[in-house]
Amino acid sequence: MKNDIPYKTYLTEDELPTAWYNLRADMKQKPAPLLNPGTGRALTAEELTPIFCEELVRQELDDETAFFPIPAEIRDFYKMYRPSPLVRAYCLEKILDTPAKIYYKFEGNNTSGSHKLNSAIAQAYYAKAQGLRGVTTETGAGQWGTALSMACAYLGLDCRVFMVKVSFEQKPFRREVMRTYGASVTPSPSTETEVGRRILAEHPGTGGSLGCAISEAVEAAAKNPGYRYVLGSVLNQVLLHQSVIGLEAKAAFDKLGVKPDLIIGCAGGGSNLGGLIAPFMGEKLRGEADYRFLAVEPASCPSFTRGVFAYDFCDTGMICPLAKMYTLGSSFIPSPNHAGGLRFHGMSPVLSQLYHDGLMEARAVKQTEVFEAAELFARCEGILPAPESSHAIRAAIDEANLCRETGEETTILFGLTGTGYFDLTAYQQFNDGRMSDRIPSDEDLAKSIAALPRVPEC
Ligand SMILES: *Cc1c(COP(=O)(O)O)cnc(C)c1O
Repeated sequence: MKNDIPYKTYLTEDELPTAWYNLRADMKQKPAPLLNPGTGRALTAEELTPIFCEELVRQELDDETAFFPIPAEIRDFYKMYRPSPLVRAYCLEKILDTPAKIYYKFEGNNTSGSHKLNSAIAQAYYAKAQGLRGVTTETGAGQWGTALSMACAYLGLDCRVFMVKVSFEQKPFRREVMRTYGASVTPSPSTETEVGRRILAEHPGTGGSLGCAISEAVEAAAKNPGYRYVLGSVLNQVLLHQSVIGLEAKAAFDKLGVKPDLIIGCAGGGSNLGGLIAPFMGEKLRGEADYRFLAVEPASCPSFTRGVFAYDFCDTGMICPLAKMYTLGSSFIPSPNHAGGLRFHGMSPVLSQLYHDGLMEARAVKQTEVFEAAELFARCEGILPAPESSHAIRAAIDEANLCRETGEETTILFGLTGTGYFDLTAYQQFNDGRMSDRIPSDEDLAKSIAALPRVPEC
């Protein structure tokens, strides 16, 4: 077989994007604004700056500016691990015996093991530029906390991470990576914050949740002078920074003279998918080209496919702003047997709006099927994928199998967001045949959805 397309396409350092692309600028239907839960009104920059860095607030609220220049220092940091390769999955295609052409953009080539570093360095940079002492955040599985601690170490910023207690206990290695980069890591809920103490009193012995850790990190930022809170997903600013993934992918495809037909990404809070699709979706919105977009989520935390499009809290403690998004309700916690990540109850307001407007599709997949896809991929393509990324692999394989039946030569691009070295407990469950699928019942979901906050419809 003669391969006219190389296995890997790299851009040069000079071809690394010089500006992030803000998809909101091209959206006719803008994502709904964040609301102040106290007043029900759209949050102003003045209300957000006590919690978030000033420049990041500006980026968060700007629905008009299409391009934000990437500061030279951030670009220099990017050069240590970017541009990331666009890989043609020849071996996977062969095993599937499919006429589809499969590509993936690999973001796992840094110590944090995921795309999260792309936004971590940007957020840490603006905190530093503002003269702050440090930042607070939450982490679930630990990828975001690791990425942020790397970025803070590079810039000399203090980093305080509230880590969901079950992960803190089950993923001691993640914790030690963060500590090695100088971060302080606290299991959440903790007794360090008021909201943590309240949650501990109400739910003694709880293993915590992402929403609860967010509440703690926000409180810690608000109460400590010189600190601000940073978040690794969901927010508009995070999607903006992650556009570097899509811009690179687009440039690499242009170099090859290839156009993808279908773009697939896993969706937790929506940041990698929002970043990957950004320039392609921009073309679609402007009427310049057409693509199919597919968000893949776990059947055990199905925000897009079974959630409602409504204003909700981003955290369990209900102290964060309200965002209009596809949500299962902030009190929703996925079943403890769920090992595959992507366990946030809500979704990026940008992606939620696009999905609501019919510009993107969504699909939920079961975790045993996700790990089957991960195993197949690892055996033929060589990379041990993160469980999160494997949701996208699952859908890419399913689509490629469909092509085998129809004979269509669809060009598929999916985001391989990271590696799974810290997820070996989940892999162990799968290898031992102990992994199961627990899908929430309609009654489960109705309960958390009924607890959504009531806000006037805007
Ligand atoms: C955090 C994470 C995700 C999900 O987050 P999004 O904001 O939805 O992108 C996906 N893959 C990996 C490897 C992650 O670490």
